[in-house]
Amino acid sequence: MDDCIFCKIIKGEIPSEKVYEDEEIIAFKDIKPVAPVHILVIPKKHISTLMELNDENMYIMEKIMKAIQKIAKEQNIAENGFRLIANCGPDSGQEVMHIHFHLLAGKKLGPKIIC
Ligand code: 5GP
Ligand code: ZN
Repeated sequence: MDDCIFCKIIKGEIPSEKVYEDEEIIAFKDIKPVAPVHILVIPKKHISTLMELNDENMYIMEKIMKAIQKIAKEQNIAENGFRLIANCGPDSGQEVMHIHFHLLAGKKLGPKIIC
């Protein structure tokens, strides 16, 4: 997707602070962190929202969760814990239309749901 910020990050056209990469997943620091650790974990394949997942591409979710476990260990947040957030669609406030998980950690996090 030519106009997708995260696809540009994947291609190296926009710089990012990568913390993890494998064949199908990358993770990098959020440009506007809201916690001491704020990492975005994304598939390299462009999928706009969680609602675009289907039988063919759903395998990527397993890979993302496995990558998150590795990242959590590497970032030393596995023991104290972390929060995963995935926005989907307009009411969630999803800004970047390329599936991503926010991995938040590094302090006691606040209320779980902000409405
Ligand atoms: P959303 O609101 O779509 O769930 O989250 C998108 C996230 O992407 C936001 O937290 C925002 O700060 C982050 N973001 C947007 N543009 C960039 C960028 O160019 N680089 C990085 N590292 N993060 C970005
Ligand atoms: Zn994309």
